[in-house]
Amino acid sequence: MTFTQKPTKVAIIGAGPAGIYCALHLQDTNNISIDIYEKSKPLKTLLPTGGGRCNLAHYALNPKSLAKNYPRGKKFLYSIFARHFVNDTLDFFKSIGIETYMQEDERYFPISNSARDMREKMLCALKNKNIINKKITDIKQLNNYDFVVIATGSRGGYSLAEQLGHTIITPKPSLCGLKLAPGSPKYPQGVTINTPEGEILFTKDGLTGPYIYKISSLKARDNFPYDITIPLISREELQNKIKCNPKKIFGNIVSEFIPKSLSRVILGENYNIKCSNVKKTTLDTLETLTFQVISPDNKGEIVTSGGVELNEINNFCGSKLNPKIYFCGEIMNIDGFCGGYNLQNCWSSAFCAAQGIKNHLTQRKNL
Ligand SMILES: Cc1cc2nc3c(=O)[nH]c(=O)nc-3n(C[C@H](O)[C@H](O)[C@H](O)COP(=O)(O)OP(=O)(O)OC[C@H]3O[C@@H](n4cnc5c(N)ncnc54)[C@H](O)[C@@H]3O)c2cc1C
Repeated sequence: MTFTQKPTKVAIIGAGPAGIYCALHLQDTNNISIDIYEKSKPLKTLLPTGGGRCNLAHYALNPKSLAKNYPRGKKFLYSIFARHFVNDTLDFFKSIGIETYMQEDERYFPISNSARDMREKMLCALKNKNIINKKITDIKQLNNYDFVVIATGSRGGYSLAEQLGHTIITPKPSLCGLKLAPGSPKYPQGVTINTPEGEILFTKDGLTGPYIYKISSLKARDNFPYDITIPLISREELQNKIKCNPKKIFGNIVSEFIPKSLSRVILGENYNIKCSNVKKTTLDTLETLTFQVISPDNKGEIVTSGGVELNEINNFCGSKLNPKIYFCGEIMNIDGFCGGYNLQNCWSSAFCAAQGIKNHLTQRKNL
């Protein structure tokens, strides 16, 4: 007589990068059935990533150095990255036909430079095409599953985690532009300055650009208003230029470092003085710029800081409150800087959630 064992039923809520990567790592498990619930379109959120090119990962020497790029989640991610590191991600993508390359700035992209192509290849590798177009609003809807993976990102799944008794760290925007206090000095809109930390762009009522994204991430948990100070011109380099060119117009020298339209606003009537007449106080104003920030510019938000409290999640991304539940991706209180770090969190945590479920199944079989 042969016994046919009932398949293990897994529900994945959310067909974003984390949910689909988790499904791809679970699908070859023996005797498993997977249902993916998606309220919108699968992998739709992958399309705008990296400006349509999908910056899918970032080079790092080891899990610890990679984890340093996450203002929230650093410690939690050590063991997650130790299980599934950047090279594992790249190898996996290669195995499903997505070749990648590293840019000079150490960010990885698919060779196709196309998030759309990446989406198609990921969905093509998915054996079970049965993605159920449904919004899950009550976790009890999934009572008949053996395991539930919550991969709902930052827009739509917090209440499910709360229903299970999990704590949600209040979501706040990160990697976004910043709005300045009314009455801040008016700098020319559209002007860009280059700092050693990255570009800054002046907008109508605030600041944006890679360096501002980084500041918004570091300060994501601070209360508004707060002050930020950004480096402008190296005092030493400016003084050397002044020494070599005492008869030149000071504004022209300053404009070798920053855009002319900006130096005109900052220097005002000091623009046209000779270098030999420049005062120390004028040099002081050129070293840094300080701004009062009143709010994030929500339009530019790339990720959300906050989410499911990490103390309540084990290092296989399983819920410590309910052994049936797993989390992966942005739903957790994890967010990184720009550069492929946020997708790497999705890939590595999704792998760990899949592995956690497989471990359960192996333990059951051995009983
Ligand atoms: C413009 C932009 C560019 C970006 N570029 C990059 C980049 O280049 N590199 C990088 O690393 N990161 C980038 N990011 C961040 C990255 O896209 C996210 O970190 C990532 O998409 C998070 O994946 P996730 O699967 O956790 O959640 P999501 O991508 O948000 O996916 C969650 C899915 O779950 C579904 N869902 C939610 N609630 C429910 C529910 N109750 N029932 C059913 N379905 C539900 C949603 O419809 C969604 O499809 C970018 C983000 C933006 C906005």
